[in-house]
Amino acid sequence: MIKFNDFEKEYLECKSELLDTFENTLQSGWYVLGPRVVNFENEFSNMFNFKHTIGVGNGMDAIELILRALNIKNGDEVITTPLTAFATVLAILKVGATPVLCDIDPNTGLMDIQSAEKSINIKTKAILLVHLYGRIENADNFKLLCNKNNLFFIEDCAQSHGASENDITCGNFGIAGAYSFYPTKNLGAIGDGGAVVTNNQELFTSIQKLRNYGQEKRYYHSLIGMNSRLDELQAAILSVKLKYLEERTMKRKEIANYYFNNINNDNIQLLSKPLNSKSHVYHLFVIKLFENREYFQNYLTNNGIETLIHYPVPIHKQDAMKGMFNNYVDLNNSENFSNECISIPCHPFLKENDLEIIVSAINKFQL
Ligand SMILES: *Cc1c(COP(=O)(O)O)cnc(C)c1O
Repeated sequence: MIKFNDFEKEYLECKSELLDTFENTLQSGWYVLGPRVVNFENEFSNMFNFKHTIGVGNGMDAIELILRALNIKNGDEVITTPLTAFATVLAILKVGATPVLCDIDPNTGLMDIQSAEKSINIKTKAILLVHLYGRIENADNFKLLCNKNNLFFIEDCAQSHGASENDITCGNFGIAGAYSFYPTKNLGAIGDGGAVVTNNQELFTSIQKLRNYGQEKRYYHSLIGMNSRLDELQAAILSVKLKYLEERTMKRKEIANYYFNNINNDNIQLLSKPLNSKSHVYHLFVIKLFENREYFQNYLTNNGIETLIHYPVPIHKQDAMKGMFNNYVDLNNSENFSNECISIPCHPFLKENDLEIIVSAINKFQL
C-alpha cells in the first residue's frame, strides 16, 4: 500500500536526534512552557521573519486566541471559507462570533476575494483567510480589502508552513497567523501543538498571557485566559523537525511537479498550477473528478494507493452548523468542489517508483 502519510519513515529519518531530545527533556524536570518552548518560538520566528511566535496547545486554539485578543465576540461576524478544516470555524464559534461563509475559486479551492468582499457588512470584524492545501494566493489583496474596510486580517496557516507571496511568509500579512503542528501537518509534533505568529507587540503580550490562564506573572491574573500551552517535549521535537522542514518541503514540491507534468486523463482535472513555486508547500495535492469520485477512490485503493478527501462536506452542510453561520453569497463552487475533490499521496517519503505507480494508475483510469 502506498500510504497517504508515512510517519514511521519521518521518525526513522531523525530517530537518534529525536531520542536524544526526548531523554534530555525528561531529564530536565521542566515539562510545560519552559526553555525548549522559548527556543522553538525563537527558531520559528527567525526562520520565517515573524517578530513573535507564541507556542500554544493546537491550531484551533491559536485561532481562538487571536480572536479573543482582538476582542471579537458575540454579535461580530468573521468571514471565512466553507472549504476548510472544521476547526477554523469552531474557533470563531468558540468566541461567540458568527462565521460568515463566502465562496471559493474552483481552480484553487481557495477563498474567492470578490465573494469575500460581497460578504462585508457593518457587523464584520475580520477576514480569516485559510491558506488551504498549503497555498497562499492574493494575500496582499485580502490585506488591502481589510484595510479599506477597517477589518482585522487573520491568516489560518495550519496547512501552509513556509508558503510565501512576494517573499513574505504567510503569517506576516495579517495582524496574526495561526499555525498547527498536528502530526499530519508539514511540520508535525508527536501530539497536539500550535502557534500564534504576529508582528504586533500588543497582541503578542496579550496572547502570551491568554494562553496561560491570563496570568501576568505567576498567580496574578490580568485577563480571563485559557489553558493552551505548548509543552517542552513537543517544542523540543519541533525544533529537531524544523531543521528538516525546508528539505521535506522541497520533496513535496518535486512530487507536485511530477504530478503536474505527468497526470493526463480527460476524466481528471488538476487544480491550477501556482505561478510562483514559493507560494505552495503542497500539504495536500488535490485533483478533481466531475463524476464517480467514489468509484475512482475505490479503484485507487484496489491499486494499492491510499487517498483522502479534503473535505467531503462543506462547513455549512455539516449537521452541527444548522443556524450557526451566515452567508450573503451562494456557495455553489464550494459545494461542487466538495463533491469532486480527492487528495492523492504527496508526502516527502514517496519514492520515484511510488510516483510512477500512482500516475500510471491515474492515467489508466476509465469511467
Ligand atoms: C489542522 C487545521 C486546523 C486546526 O489545527 P489543530 O491543531 O488540529 O487544532 C485549523 N485550520 C486548518 C486549515 C487546518 O488544516
